[in-house]
Amino acid sequence: MKLSKRAQNLKPSVTLAASAKAKELKAQGLDILSVTLGEPDFSTPKNIQEAAIAAIQSGKASFYTPTAGIPELRQAIVEYIEKYYGLTYTPAQTLVTDGAKFALYALFQVILDEGDEVIIPVPYWVSYAEQVSLAGGTPIFVEGLEANQFKVTVDDLEHARTTKTQAVVLNTPSNPTGMIYTKDELQAIGEWAVAHDILIVADDIYGRLVYGDAEFTPIATISEAIRQQTMIINGVSKTYSMTGWRIGFAVGNIELIKAMTDIASQATSNPTAVSQYAAVEALTGPQDSVETMRQAFEERLNKLHALVVEIPGFTCAKPQGAFYLFPNVKEALDMCGYTDVTTFTDDLLNEAHVALVTGAGFGAPENIRISYASDWDTLEETVKRIKAFVEKKRQK
Ligand SMILES: *Cc1c(COP(=O)(O)O)cnc(C)c1O
Repeated sequence: MKLSKRAQNLKPSVTLAASAKAKELKAQGLDILSVTLGEPDFSTPKNIQEAAIAAIQSGKASFYTPTAGIPELRQAIVEYIEKYYGLTYTPAQTLVTDGAKFALYALFQVILDEGDEVIIPVPYWVSYAEQVSLAGGTPIFVEGLEANQFKVTVDDLEHARTTKTQAVVLNTPSNPTGMIYTKDELQAIGEWAVAHDILIVADDIYGRLVYGDAEFTPIATISEAIRQQTMIINGVSKTYSMTGWRIGFAVGNIELIKAMTDIASQATSNPTAVSQYAAVEALTGPQDSVETMRQAFEERLNKLHALVVEIPGFTCAKPQGAFYLFPNVKEALDMCGYTDVTTFTDDLLNEAHVALVTGAGFGAPENIRISYASDWDTLEETVKRIKAFVEKKRQK
């Protein structure tokens, strides 16, 4: 069978691939520790589960919903954005999607023509680049300095800008680095985007997972002009431990939202009905479980970061949000005779039975990503194994 060029050029998600490999080895009976996935290990809070069960039993979850989402959920999104961003939108400016991932997919489908460019700061969440390519666009990678927490500046962006630049993706708090752009940094980037009519794709999915005295400023809140230039992408997966339910949303320009809805109408019809009812409860119900989970992540971050920086050859600035550490392991690679981080992570899996994600997949060939959305025992043992592995390789 012939495969399209598009399919041939598509790279599967490195994080999902690493997690699948770990599961495969586990199934063979090996004692594999996996810190690959960006997926909270908590079960979905009880009140949300119960709302879903009630929706099933009432019969209302049996049917197709409007493509853009049930009216209750679109209204809930409006109220949520009002509460956490202080911004007023109408339900018509919202779209419920099959995960935030599909919101991004639909967005790139409606803004890009063949050859149009999207600026993606490096390191980046793996799907941005592939989704841009699938839409016929060209991802333009811009590297932030690791010394500046990998954050890009307006100078970096201006360097990459051409007449074909349609959008810039901003993910703060960032997956994979956990770093957060300050309000001033965002203001500068926002004004630059407004001046050049470049759409800001604001992936705010980790906005409520912020630690210590760090603060998350959604870029859309900085000024009215910036708000108009921004498509907010968010969802329930990370905040409410609802990855499997597949509910995300987009909020912004009404013409774009309408066009994205048309894409969804031909691609998916609607996000799963029962999940939409669950998401209404997530967004409008009690929020104390969010805080409980956030605190658990923060505690793990504090303990894990202290251990990871003790591994020979690892350096790691302390993240401020999300649930990843993204240590630079260049020195460890040198010490152990590796020239390539992916060989290092492959050997870690095969020899130390630790599955984590190579930074190469995020555009950062000196780094690895450790997700701390796992229980503490797993995390502690993971660090022990990595440390022992590096120490063993180093002596050779
Ligand atoms: C997890 C993640 C998403 C997508 O989440 P969904 O489960 O599809 O809602 C989007 N962006 C980033 C940066 C993520 O880490």
